[in-house]
Amino acid sequence: MSHYASAYRILADTLGEDSVLAGLSIDSRFHSDKTSDLSGIPDLVLLPRSTHDVSEALRICSQYGIPVIPRGAGTGVTGGAVAVSGGAILSLERMNAIIETDEKNCTMTVQPGAATGAIQKEALSFGLLYPPDPASLKDCSIGGNLAESSGGPRAVKYGTTKDYVLGVEFVTIDGTIMRSGGKYVKNATGYNLAALLIGSEGTLAVITEITLRLIPAPEHSCDILASFDSLEKAADAVWLITAARLVPVTIEFMEEDAIRFVARNSPIQIPLSSGKAHLLIQLDAGTQRELTTRRKELLRSIKPLKGEVLIAKNEKTRALLWSARRGIRPAIEKESPVFLAEDCVVPRASIPSFVKEVKDFLNGKGLRTVIFGHAGDGNVHIDVLKYEMNYEEWKQMIPSIKKGIYEIAIRSKGTISGEHGIGSVRRDYMHLAFSEEELALMKRIKAAFDPDGLLNPGKMV
Ligand SMILES: Cc1cc2nc3c(=O)[nH]c(=O)nc-3n(C[C@H](O)[C@H](O)[C@H](O)COP(=O)(O)OP(=O)(O)OC[C@H]3O[C@@H](n4cnc5c(N)ncnc54)[C@H](O)[C@@H]3O)c2cc1C
Repeated sequence: MSHYASAYRILADTLGEDSVLAGLSIDSRFHSDKTSDLSGIPDLVLLPRSTHDVSEALRICSQYGIPVIPRGAGTGVTGGAVAVSGGAILSLERMNAIIETDEKNCTMTVQPGAATGAIQKEALSFGLLYPPDPASLKDCSIGGNLAESSGGPRAVKYGTTKDYVLGVEFVTIDGTIMRSGGKYVKNATGYNLAALLIGSEGTLAVITEITLRLIPAPEHSCDILASFDSLEKAADAVWLITAARLVPVTIEFMEEDAIRFVARNSPIQIPLSSGKAHLLIQLDAGTQRELTTRRKELLRSIKPLKGEVLIAKNEKTRALLWSARRGIRPAIEKESPVFLAEDCVVPRASIPSFVKEVKDFLNGKGLRTVIFGHAGDGNVHIDVLKYEMNYEEWKQMIPSIKKGIYEIAIRSKGTISGEHGIGSVRRDYMHLAFSEEELALMKRIKAAFDPDGLLNPGKMV
């Protein structure tokens, strides 16, 4: 009997038959996440219902030397939750409860499988805001957000997931349950293990409970879609906004193709302009008067194309603009199911030169690209579409395309990923961003948590 077969029996007896899947009973959704052109078949899928189940599952897997791949909602785009070399997927999807919203302390305690969108909705019902808003928020899980150190459009003003985590409960590979942080805002007590787990991509421990910080929801806000006659002018507008000391909630940046693809591949139709690039900007303020003043000041500083500004004040138009923005990635997927999605981050003022250099580099190779993203925080999404190119030729080109893009980002004083992480698809490029010594230190941290390298092996480091 193989060690998987022996472990299966013990896991099924401990967690319950319906919590352990093997062979043909494994649903194909566990074969991939949202990374283009990547899949892997797990040997087992474990579906715990509680922290105790997670602890038992990890204890048994480590006893049998079975690699464990933690998984939230599988919306990751760097292959972090894919069993690229087999092993057991530990899916947190059943642990999706919102445990408590504490109005007095402005905190919310949740299980890792809770959807980010559901957390935002729950917070708003108390007049509170959980600001991080990845475009995948309806589907992705908060555990995945922590593990990927996810961001979203609101990062410009409100920061990212890491800025809202007060405490975590987590389980190490041998099944030990631990905690770091709690319902307190300050903490100067020992190493911040919660912070270390943020962005660790399931390679250090499994996060089983999270306490989040909430803030009062702003009273007034509006969205502005402004068009420009060149990508460079839109990119320039981003630092003009920063230079004017305006702090919008979001500054999203979209090339004309991004909007065109959304219009072509979905029912979402926003008034298309003649502009070559667009900015979607959100402002918020304590009073309507303050909001109007800031909006006027902003439009004065960015100089969009004449007559090409849409100010969305009502919920319907705002929802339309944001569904168009959130629809970009699915639309690109429809245009070209195989594509390369990069999300480098650079200092905001370097966006214009970075975008130009990347465009020149990719155009020089005859590739079709779409550039969009969270320009307000320097996070530029660069999608390169395969279209009709021969698959073998495409596969051969990928390493040099990635290396070229990352080198431009690093030369611009930025780095490889702003929010999507490293996973399995960028692991081989970490040496571009870190020295040997820095990588060796990361490996020692990994070994301290997971001496036998069983937790999400082959990812990140
Ligand atoms: C259309 C679309 C739009 C997107 N927009 C954004 C965006 O705006 N910003 C952004 O940051 N990302 C975005 N993403 C990427 C993705 O949604 C995020 O990375 C998200 O945080 C992944 O969450 P998940 O629950 O799906 O995690 P998964 O894909 O299941 O897992 C991601 C990683 O987290 C680990 N993990 C998951 N849960 C746990 C846990 N409880 N404990 C330990 N490790 C765990 C996994 O091992 C894996 O390494 C987008 C993706 C899509 C498809």
